[in-house]
Amino acid sequence: MISSFKDPFINELLDEQQNLTAVDRFSKKYDTNQSHFSSNVYSDLIPLSKPKKNEQYSFEIDLSACSGCKSCVSACHSLNGLDHNESWRDVGALFGTKRDKPMQQTVTSACHHCMDPACANGCPTLAYEKDQATGIVHHLDDQCMGCRYCEMKCPYDAPKYNDNLGIIRKCDMCQSRLETGEAPACVQACPNEAIKIRIVRNEEILEESNTDEGLVPGTITSQYTKPSSKYINLIKDSNPRPADYGNLKESASHSPLMLMLTFTQAGVGISLIEFIKWLANSQINQYTILIGIALCFTGLLSSFLHLGKPSKAWKAFLGWRRSWLSREILIFGLWSATSLIFLFFTLSGFASKWITISGAISSLLGILGIYSSVMVYADTPRPSWNFKLTCLRFFSTTLGVGIAFSGWFFLAAIPMFISLSIDIIIMAGKNSNCIHSGRLMRGPLKNLSLIRIFTAIIAIALLAFSTVASAVLFFVSEIFGRSLFFRSSDEPKMPGLINS
Ligand code: SF4
Repeated sequence: MISSFKDPFINELLDEQQNLTAVDRFSKKYDTNQSHFSSNVYSDLIPLSKPKKNEQYSFEIDLSACSGCKSCVSACHSLNGLDHNESWRDVGALFGTKRDKPMQQTVTSACHHCMDPACANGCPTLAYEKDQATGIVHHLDDQCMGCRYCEMKCPYDAPKYNDNLGIIRKCDMCQSRLETGEAPACVQACPNEAIKIRIVRNEEILEESNTDEGLVPGTITSQYTKPSSKYINLIKDSNPRPADYGNLKESASHSPLMLMLTFTQAGVGISLIEFIKWLANSQINQYTILIGIALCFTGLLSSFLHLGKPSKAWKAFLGWRRSWLSREILIFGLWSATSLIFLFFTLSGFASKWITISGAISSLLGILGIYSSVMVYADTPRPSWNFKLTCLRFFSTTLGVGIAFSGWFFLAAIPMFISLSIDIIIMAGKNSNCIHSGRLMRGPLKNLSLIRIFTAIIAIALLAFSTVASAVLFFVSEIFGRSLFFRSSDEPKMPGLINS
């Protein structure tokens, strides 16, 4: 058909449209290399071959190309069907700190599909799997019980908790698209081609991770998880810093965990000290043992409130080979059984031999349980949860409550004083691992910190009048202290935005 407009150009366009469909036109342009979406663009953004042995897929991000438009975030969101408040990809920013070299670069990030994924190492239900063929770290949604421990283990804030589903979900590099030769949603959506998929050799990842530096300024050393992502074209000479550097943001309070820790520690402490008294003078108060066990069971039950999917809690022992959380659950499970046997023997007046054996096993498992609680937190990259401080904190609660409850007022003052001193030192900014925690305790968490300190001081003073009242008040003070432990912790993460 010949068009009959006066303008020959319009006629030409109309004729062309009538002769070719949209697909025909795209195909023609594609074949003659006129289109933006030409084959060389695809091959530049994703590899044309699959990873071989000792290789894996990884993201390569060009910081000089990223404009911070968040097309990648929205493409990831819509292609993966995420909930309205869920995002597997984030965009933050870096600012230069040199006056004569101002700069800003935006940083897009998702999971870095690490060679040594901390999320997988910590998961108690084995809900993470590193694909041997591609190196992609998958989250197995069906296996997840929603304990959120991977959030604490990952230093890049990549696992995201979905409130509606009660489980963690995260980026899988759009593996189903990669398998069919298509680019992941973020790669395809970026108008500046800032995100690419490359194939990287394992030795290369190890080499690049073998440094005290992180992926970009503000992130922790890559030695921790050996992330496979690579950020290129960072403007280093302007000494960049994350835009949210120094922001005072509280961490999650995790109230059920706060209760779980304080109740189990107090309970183990009370029954442990009562058992030591039995060894010393062959006298035992069954009701003290009962109170200790009841406290511990209250703590263990409250931990279920933390789970998004409590019905899957039975899977928690599966990861015992590498997860301290799994070991903690297993040990407290064994402690529950042996402590009930110990209680039964003391109440039924069994031969002292059986009381001693069951009490010794129960006490040992109680101490191991507290130790595994210490390791659950010490095994994360949060500086304020380091082994020394966490160990002192948790065992101070155990011994402070236990000894005060037993009436040994002089000895009880020592763990109480240690526990109190830790928070005073951190609040005063005198501990180099806890600078951020100290700022939070002097700032947004000031009232809670003062209440914690004053209740602990009064509890120590009360020792002179009533050790039981002192034990109770110290226990309350430790609950405040554990709340500070969570809320003032410093979470390593990728750079955020100014107000994030
Ligand atoms: Fe796991 Fe975080 Fe590494 Fe992703 S970035 S593999 S979630 S540790």
